[in-house]
Amino acid sequence: MQHKLYSITEVSQIIKAKDFISSADAGIRNISFDSRKLVDVETTLFFALRGRRDGHDFIAEVYEAGVRNFVVSSETSMLKRCRDANFLLVADTTIALQELTAAHRQQFSYPVIGITGSNGKTIVKEWLYQLLAPEKNIVRSPKSYNSQIGVPLSVWSMTEEQTLGLFEAGVSKVGEMASLESIIKPTIGVLTNIGEAHNEGFANRIEKIEEKLELFKNVDLFIYSPKYLEGYTKTIPGKKQFTWAWNSPADLKITDEEVLEEKYLFLRGFFHDRDVQCVVPFIDAASVENAIICWATMLALGYLPEDADKRLEKLQPVKMRLELKNGINNCSIIDDSYSADISSLAIALDFLKQQNQHLKRTVILSDILEAGVDHEDLYERIAQLLDSKGVDRLIGVGKEIGQHAGKFKQDTVFFESTNNLLNHLEELKLFNETILLKGARSFEFEKVSKMLTHKVHETVLEINLNALENNLNYYKSQLKPGVKLMVMVKAFSYGSGSFEIANLLQFNKVDYLAVAYADEGVTLRKAGITLPIMVMNPDVLGFDVMVEHGLEPEIYSFRVLRDFVNVLKLKGIENYPVHIKLDTGMHRLGFMLSDTTALVEELTGCSYLKIVSAFSHLVASEDPASDDFTKNQLADFTYMTGQLESALQYSFIRHISNTSGISRHPEAQMDMVRLGIGLYGFDSSYKNRRSPLETVTVLKTSISQIKELQAGDSVGYNRRGILRTDGKIATVKIGYADGYNRRLGNGNGKMMVNGQVVPTIGNICMDMCMLNITGISAAEGDEVIVFNEVVRVEDIASQLETIPYEVLTGVSERVKRIYFYE
Ligand SMILES: *Cc1c(COP(=O)(O)O)cnc(C)c1O
Repeated sequence: MQHKLYSITEVSQIIKAKDFISSADAGIRNISFDSRKLVDVETTLFFALRGRRDGHDFIAEVYEAGVRNFVVSSETSMLKRCRDANFLLVADTTIALQELTAAHRQQFSYPVIGITGSNGKTIVKEWLYQLLAPEKNIVRSPKSYNSQIGVPLSVWSMTEEQTLGLFEAGVSKVGEMASLESIIKPTIGVLTNIGEAHNEGFANRIEKIEEKLELFKNVDLFIYSPKYLEGYTKTIPGKKQFTWAWNSPADLKITDEEVLEEKYLFLRGFFHDRDVQCVVPFIDAASVENAIICWATMLALGYLPEDADKRLEKLQPVKMRLELKNGINNCSIIDDSYSADISSLAIALDFLKQQNQHLKRTVILSDILEAGVDHEDLYERIAQLLDSKGVDRLIGVGKEIGQHAGKFKQDTVFFESTNNLLNHLEELKLFNETILLKGARSFEFEKVSKMLTHKVHETVLEINLNALENNLNYYKSQLKPGVKLMVMVKAFSYGSGSFEIANLLQFNKVDYLAVAYADEGVTLRKAGITLPIMVMNPDVLGFDVMVEHGLEPEIYSFRVLRDFVNVLKLKGIENYPVHIKLDTGMHRLGFMLSDTTALVEELTGCSYLKIVSAFSHLVASEDPASDDFTKNQLADFTYMTGQLESALQYSFIRHISNTSGISRHPEAQMDMVRLGIGLYGFDSSYKNRRSPLETVTVLKTSISQIKELQAGDSVGYNRRGILRTDGKIATVKIGYADGYNRRLGNGNGKMMVNGQVVPTIGNICMDMCMLNITGISAAEGDEVIVFNEVVRVEDIASQLETIPYEVLTGVSERVKRIYFYE
C-alpha cells in the first residue's frame, strides 16, 4: 500500500491557496523543502520556506531538477519560464505545510502516541518502538525530527497499513506546541520530564510546563510522573491518566533498585496493588528514567507486567548517529548499522551522496524489517531511493531483499546472511569507494564494519557534523542579503579534516573555500571538491599544479604577480581568476597602501589576470580596544579597492572579515566574509555572553592501566609526580606526540573520567600520560575525555598561554578523526 497520492487541486483546497495550475493531473506523494534532498521529483511538492535561507531562492534549481509543484508565498517567485509548473500561493508556506500534514493525519484512526519533555524524547520514542514493534506496525519520527518542520515530515509518512504512530514534539518557545498538536493529534500522551534545559524561551518553569502540556490537550490517556508537574495548578490533561513515581503514590510506584553485574538495574514496585518488577540493561540515571517511562507506558497500554519485563530487559541502546571512517583499500565507510527503516535510509543516502572523495558509491543494505508492510511496494520505494541518490552498487543481505533483485537499477549482489557476506567479502573487491553500511539490528552489521574499517587507535577526535552545520548556519544568518561566504579550510580545516569538511561545505553551498598551500587545494580537488578555492601562499614552483587544478592564487606582491603572469603567458591562458591581497595593517603579506598606484598601473590592461576579489585581513577584530585601528583598516581598504575598481573598470568581490569580524563588525561584511574558527564553535566575542555556537570536536582517549600507589610513590619520568596520599593513577593513551602539550603535565592539565574532572600527574610522555584518579571509580578500558564542552579548549589554550587555534591544529595526524551525523 503506497502513500496516498493527493491531486494538486486537493492540496490547493486543503491549504486554501490561490492556485496557478497548468497541469491539474499532477499527483503529490512527496513533500520537500530542501533543494539538496529530492526524491521522485515527479510527485514532489516543494515548499519554499522562509528560514535561515529563503526557499524561494531555490525554486529555479528545484525546477531544474524536475520538480513541477510549488507552494510559495510570493508571486514574483513564480518564474515566468516555469510555464509547465503548478504554483500554490499562500500567505505563509510553513503554515501551509502544517495544514497539509494535519489534514493527512486526519485520514487515520489508529492510535498515535505523542511524546514531549525536556530530555529523552528520542530515546523514549525509539525504545517504545523496540518494545511495541512485535505487535504493531509503527510509523515514527525519523531521528529526532521534532520541530515545526520535522513534525510535519514525520506525520506525512503515515499510511493506511500502519497500526500505531509514535511522534515526538519539541518546542523552544511559547506558542509552538499548539501547531505541533494540531498536526500530531496524539490520542495517547507521554511526558518524559521537565528539566532545566532550554529555559531561555520561557518566562518560568510553569510556563514551560503549560506549553508542553498543550500537546496532550485532546488525549484519551496521559502518562507522566507527578514530580514534573509540581506547582502546576491547572487541570492535568487526558480523559484518563497513568502516573509513575519513586516511593510516592502512583499507578506505578517504584520502591527498590539494585545494580546487577554492574550493568543491569533491577527495579521493584507496585502496579496498583500488584508486586511488579523488571530488569533494565542500563544503570545510568537518565537511561533508567527513560526505561521507567517506557515501563509505565506499557503497563498503561494494558501489557502484562511479565511481558513488559521480558521486553525491557532486551532494550538496545539508541545510537542515532552515523559515522564516517577510513576503511580498508582506500574506502570511506559510513557506518549506520543501528537501524534500517526507510526514512533513516533516506537520510543516510543523502550523506552518502554528499561524499565526493571516491567516484563510486556502494550500499550494503539488509532486509528492512517492518512488520505488515507490503514488500513489493517497500522495495520499489527503496529501489527508487537508491537510484535517485546516485548509488552505483547494492550489496543486499537477507532472505527478503534478494527476492526483489529485478527492481534495482544498479549493480547488485545478494547474500542470504551477514556471515555469508563476510565469507565472500574479498571477492567483492571493495576498493576506492564510499560504502554505506545500513542494517537492521539483528543483522549485526557491526561485524561487517569491523572488517571494513581500520583498527582505530583508541585516541580519536570526534567531529560532530550536525554541530558544524549549525555553526555554519548561524554565521550565514548573520550575513546581510547577498553577502558571500568563504570558509577557511587551511591546516586540515583547523585540525578537523580535509575533504570530510569540504564535502559538507560544498553540500551546504558555501561560495568559496580557502587553503594555505597549493597541495591542500590539490587534495580537495582530487576528492571531488568543485567549489572555487583560493590559495593564500602560492609558490612559483606550484603555479603549474595550481592552474592544472583550477586553484586561484592570492597575489600579494609584485614578484608573485609577475611570476604568475609569466606562467600564464607561457601557457597562453587569459583571464585567470586571482585574488589581490592588500596589507592594511597586518604587515604579513599584501600590497601596502603606498603600492596602490604602482599596483593599479601594473594591473590595468593585464589581460592574463581576472581579479575576482581583493581582500585584506583584520588584525584585531576581536578586540574592542583596537576598534579604532580596525576602522582605519576599513578606511584604507575602501580607498585601495576603490582605486583598483575604477582603474580595472570591472567590479570584484571585496572581503576583510574573519570570524570575530562577522560577529563584531557587521559594517565590514562588504561582499564576502571569511569564516574560520567560528565554524568549530570558538568565537571570542561570546566570552561574556551565551554563545549560539555548538561544540564540534571532542578529543577522547582511554585508560590502558590503573595502579594503586602509596603516599610518596613517584609517577613518570624524573620522578616529577609524587603522590601526597595513598591513591590511584590511570595511564591513558595520549602524549605530546598526539598533540597533548607537555606543559599540561604535573596537574596543569585536566581530563574527564566517568564524568569527573581529574588532573594529570607527572610529566607527559610521548605517547601516554598519567592521571590521578584517586577516589574515582574507573576501570581499564574506560573512555577519557581530553577536551569537550566541559574540559574546554579555551581553558587548555589559556593555560598554555596560547589560543584555541593552536590547540586544535596541534592534534596530530596520528589521532584518528571520526565524523558523525545524527
Ligand atoms: C585564517 C584566516 C581567516 C579566518 O580567521 P578566523 O579567525 O579563524 O575566522 C580569515 N582570513 C585569513 C586571511 C586567514 O588567514
